[in-house]
Amino acid sequence: MSNKIQAIRGMNDLLPADSTLWSSLDETISNLLISYGYKYCRTPIVESTETFSRAIGEVTDIVEKEMYTWEDNNGNSLTLRPEGTASVVRMMIEHNLPREGIQKVFYNGPMFRHERPQKGRYRQFHQVGAEVFGASDAKIDAELISITDSLWKSLGITARLEINSLGSKESRFAYRNILTAFFNENISQLDEDSLRRLKSNPLRILDSKNKDLELLISNAPKMIDHLDDESKEHFTILKTYLDNLDIPYEVNPKLVRGLDYYNQTVFEWISNDLGAQGTICGGGRYDGLVEKMGGSPTPAIGFAMGLERIALLIQDKKSQIVNKRCQLYFVVLGDKAQIESMKLSKKILQVLPNITLSNDLSMGSLKSQMKKADKSNADFALILGEEELSNNQLSIKPLKGQGVQQSIELEGIIQHLQEIL
Ligand code: ATP
Ligand code: MG
Repeated sequence: MSNKIQAIRGMNDLLPADSTLWSSLDETISNLLISYGYKYCRTPIVESTETFSRAIGEVTDIVEKEMYTWEDNNGNSLTLRPEGTASVVRMMIEHNLPREGIQKVFYNGPMFRHERPQKGRYRQFHQVGAEVFGASDAKIDAELISITDSLWKSLGITARLEINSLGSKESRFAYRNILTAFFNENISQLDEDSLRRLKSNPLRILDSKNKDLELLISNAPKMIDHLDDESKEHFTILKTYLDNLDIPYEVNPKLVRGLDYYNQTVFEWISNDLGAQGTICGGGRYDGLVEKMGGSPTPAIGFAMGLERIALLIQDKKSQIVNKRCQLYFVVLGDKAQIESMKLSKKILQVLPNITLSNDLSMGSLKSQMKKADKSNADFALILGEEELSNNQLSIKPLKGQGVQQSIELEGIIQHLQEIL
């Protein structure tokens, strides 16, 4: 009987074979955000439960059903973060950062939601998110969308952009009454979740994933038709930026996003190549959240993208994004040569840190080591045997048809490698 220990369902290992893809994905996204002036930040994976329930809203899928929450030994309620924005807002307030001027930050890390695992939906997944505090102009909304657009282009991903406006707090309040009246007129068609939300937050009914409600929702009054003048103008300016940046978009009046804190601009990028889990990035403005979390009123906006879904999209294009290091395999024969090869490897890697030099550890015959060199997909084999050593030489054998094997003086090896790599 097997008593193997297994990982928790929906929480996946990153296997060594996929790590190059993931690290180059991380690097591509970080470099892009840094080039736009965003600074990396890191918050703890665990926060007090209130950080999320207050920010995300009690009546949301996340807070109602998806959080990993427990009580610690002191009786405090703690939660594994289900998303990044709430923690970043907590950090901003705790360290008074918005007082120092506009803050542009990004994060990258694991998030936890107790959902039904399926392709593109996991219980531990990874997000990169960017957030801007202290800027209210639609220019920054456009910058965030433009950054994501550039990212899809550089990764070779095709995604479509949907945008909507949720208006200001005041206009949303007026709309909420209109929407409540509409759903009350059609109350017999609502499911259990929606009935509850009708009382607590009717806008969230628009975000329902229940197919039976689709028709009713599409006939419901739309926020976009009830915006006040200021919200209309903000949305128009955003669209003007997008037009000028040649970023196509579709206005989707049903887009409300699954968290309570949004106002004005909301957007999602959706890929058609992922089935039901097509949203690869979602974001929006949350001007009221800093105040709601106990800070001074501060306009803010951000997005988060799901890295697993993006990785699924670029898997087939691995070679395009993987930034390839030159690989060498050190074939070594004889005890004296073993010691010499370790000394030499150290010297070589000090001067050429961007190559990968694998030292043979099998201690097999020349033939078997050469086979391993080939199998490792190395570009060159360095060969050091008793004979080479007694001549103070090393052989370099190209493994991918780049010429013939050569013998090089040990002293000149680094210079030679610098020339050919
Ligand atoms: P969905 O509608 O797919 O549940 P969401 O609205 O809950 O998404 P957000 O909270 O906006 O998602 O998170 C931003 C992004 O993070 C999503 O667009 C998606 O790419 C990714 N994401 C969210 N939940 C998961 C999950 N359980 N597994 C993998 N990726 C996820
Ligand atoms: Mg969700």
